Amino acid sequence: MPKNPFACNECHIILADGVDQCPSCPSSPVSSDWTGYVVIMDPARSEIAKRLNIEHPGNYALKVNIR
Ligand SMILES: [Zn+2]
Repeated sequence: MPKNPFACNECHIILADGVDQCPSCPSSPVSSDWTGYVVIMDPARSEIAKRLNIEHPGNYALKVNIR
């Protein structure tokens, strides 16, 4: 199993391999300890996107754990 990529604690986006800072929220902590991979294609029509306050399509983590 390869190591998990990082996910942003603020917007929950899953970052590309080797990226350890979210481009949308650079001051927010990131964590490789996250669960629930979701692909948001159309945030306006997605209940999960509404719940997580996601405005842009992309790959997101349902839950991000920050130590
Ligand atoms: Zn972010």
